[in-house]
Formats: sequence, C-alpha cells, structure tokens
Amino acid sequence: MTARVLVVDDIEANRRLLQAKLEAQYYTVILAENGIAALHAVEKHEPDIILLDVMMPGMDGYEVCRRLKADPATAHIPVVMVTALNDVEDRIRGLDVGAEDFLTKPVDDFALMARMGALTRYNAVASELRQRQASGLRAGVDNSDSVSVQDKPARLFVVDDNQRMATRIADMLKAGGHSAFTLHEAGGMTGLNELGVDILVLSMLSDRYDALKLCAHFKMNEATRAISILLISDPEDRQRAGRGLDLGASDVIFTPVDKQELLARVRTQARRSRYIEMLRERVDRGLELSVIDQLTGLYNRRYMNNQLEQLLQRSKMGGRPVSVMMADIDHFKSVNDTYGHDAGDEVLQEVAKRLKTNSRVMDVVCRPGGEEFMVIMPETPGGLACAAAERIRLAVAASPFKIYGGAKEITITLSAGVSTVNGPSDTIADLTKRADTALYQAKSAGRNRVESIAA
Ligand SMILES: [Mg+2]
Repeated sequence: MTARVLVVDDIEANRRLLQAKLEAQYYTVILAENGIAALHAVEKHEPDIILLDVMMPGMDGYEVCRRLKADPATAHIPVVMVTALNDVEDRIRGLDVGAEDFLTKPVDDFALMARMGALTRYNAVASELRQRQASGLRAGVDNSDSVSVQDKPARLFVVDDNQRMATRIADMLKAGGHSAFTLHEAGGMTGLNELGVDILVLSMLSDRYDALKLCAHFKMNEATRAISILLISDPEDRQRAGRGLDLGASDVIFTPVDKQELLARVRTQARRSRYIEMLRERVDRGLELSVIDQLTGLYNRRYMNNQLEQLLQRSKMGGRPVSVMMADIDHFKSVNDTYGHDAGDEVLQEVAKRLKTNSRVMDVVCRPGGEEFMVIMPETPGGLACAAAERIRLAVAASPFKIYGGAKEITITLSAGVSTVNGPSDTIADLTKRADTALYQAKSAGRNRVESIAA
C-alpha cells in the first residue's frame, strides 16, 4: 500500500532527507518550501498525507493546517506536524488546529514509517468510501456533498493491569467529558461489546498479558474490528509500539501520559471513526436511494434493468428461463382526474403492496414509472408466469381500494402482459417489447386481464 505524500519544510536539506526516506519505502513525494506553496500543492496534487514543518517564515505550519482543516475540500487529508521542539505545549497546539499527528526532529525512521503506515491504512478505507459516495452523487442520488464531523464524547475502555495507572487514565478521560471504564470495573474483557466502546486504551507496559497479541486479536475479530486502539508505550519501547501500529492499532502515546495529549489524541481517533461511520451511512443510504422508488418502496427502473441484465445472462448460460409481467393500472388517468393526485398516489401504493404480497420472495417487483409496474420472475417458464400474473391481477381486482385515508373506496383493476426469455439471442429490449405487445392486447381485449406472447 502506498500513498502520495506532500513534504513541507522551509529548509531544503530537511525536505531532501524526508524525501529520500519516503521514496525508499515507495511513497510518492511532492515538495513545498513554504505555507503558500503548500496550499497550492495540495490543490494541484491532492496528496494523501501531509508532513508539515511547524516553524516556517511567513505562514507557519499551524496556520497552514488551520486553513486546510477549515476547507471541506481538504479537511479529510491527514496532517502530521513536524516540529523541532519536543514540547507538550507545541504538540497540543498542532493537534488543536486539527493535525492528526506529530513527529519530532530529527525524525526517527521507525516512528515515521509506523505513522505513515497507520495513516495510509486509514486513508484507504476513507477514500474507498468517498469514491462510492461520489459516484452516488454523480448519479444524482444524494444532494448533500460534504461530511462534517462534530465532536462528541467517546466511550473508552482502559486495559492496564496496573490498577492505579488505569484509574488515573480513566480519570483524565472523564475529566475531558468522556465515558471511561477500566478492565477492573468491567470485570474482564467480555463486556466490551455490550459497553459499546469506541476506543480501547491498551497499555503495553504489562508483563502479564501480551499487548501485541491482544491488538491482533481485536483487529481480526469481526465484532471488535471497528474499535480504535490507542497504545500506551514506554518511549524506550518504540520498536514494539511500531509493531502495534502495523497490527492495526491507530495511535501510540508515550509515557509519562500527558492529560492534554491524551485528550487530543482521543479526540482525533473519535473524529476519524465518526467520519468513517458517517461515510458508511451515506454510502448505504445512497445505494438504497439509487434503486428504490420513493413513493411505493418498489425497485426503480435503474434496478429493474440491472436485474434483467443479470438474470438474462444467467439464463443464457444454461440457467432456467426468466419471465416478466408488465402491468398497467386500468383508467389510472381518470382516477387522478376524478379524485386528485393524492388519491392517485394512494392507489399506486396499494397496488405496489398487493403486487408484493402476491409475488414470491425471489421475484423482483419494480415500478419503472407512472402507473406501470413490472414483476421479474427468475427461473419461471411462461406457463407458470401466466398463472402467477393471473393471481396478481385477481388480488388487485378482488377488493376495493381505500382512498382519502380510508374515507372512500374505489375499484381498481390492472392489465398485464407476460413474456419469457426466448433463446440465447433474446435481449432485454426483445423481452420487454413482447411483454408490452401482450399488455396492449390485454387492454384492447377489454382490460382487467392477462395476455402473453407465445415464445
Ligand atoms: Mg522550519
């Protein structure tokens, strides 16, 4: 997995050094020598990750970061602040303006690669979801185009067999407005799912359990995979911490744990998970909106064509025949003219309901448009399809339809044409044309009936 990295530093030697290290690991590197150049480079190259020097003449790193995070087009790009000062105040300031992480100069190779790996993995998930959302947007599915994440309290679980230490960390988290449970309070790891934990704070300082093993276990397990892991490590033990990040932990904080840094890192993790969660919801909702007819809840024309295409392929490759029933409500225009469009909508919804209840689970019931419906019947030869269509026609005609919210009842009927796939050269157009011709015959023959065109 690789990524495009923008390196911003006012000193050329620093830029070249980072470039060499990153290119050795097959990252693609773009360079910028000041804040303004960095903003231009972001716009032009759309990097996946930004390594941003703090101290620069003119616009400093904090300001660059603040601007990037304020712009919806660039807010999602992870920023790692690179600072010469290893001062807590300094780190916090970076995290406060929205940076995802920081590295101190001289940049430690191991820390650099571990951070880059973790951010690249996060990016892969986020960008996949963003692309899927964008394709939904292009299809006119969703009209809201940006995801904004609000900070909310997180639920954390603190695992440290040093009870005093665990309680101290839980207290820091609670002071920051979060909910925190320690392993001792929960009486074991089993309650983790029921607690609805967002973030696991896992100490690597224990000899009594193997933190890396736990980390791997959590990331392999479907039920716990989505929980972010924040490791607590001794600074002398950064090699092992790096392996933890490789195994899927999201972040590391080194001892002694500083309260401000802990809260800032928790906030970043919580934001990231919420961002992913919101993108997921968007994508799911977008997919649903793109195939469902909003009035009736049936599948729309797009989905209908897509399903026909797939079923026809399968049928041609030696599968069983596919039949379709094309139906049209009789005299629907006069329903609208006489009772109004709201009543017309009630009729459409009730027809949809009767179609659904009277078709099989495997059938695909669609409303391609207007008062027109289609039931796709997989693995159904013509004779069976005609019988099914007749059953549906009867279900519609059998009892009156309620309109005006139940205040009035009217009789509704429909006419239908049935056709069945006819040999390997048959196309969707052929199939629907035959159904349409049969439907026309049903209308001409007096309506409220089913006709079919013999294959
Ligand atoms: Mg500098």
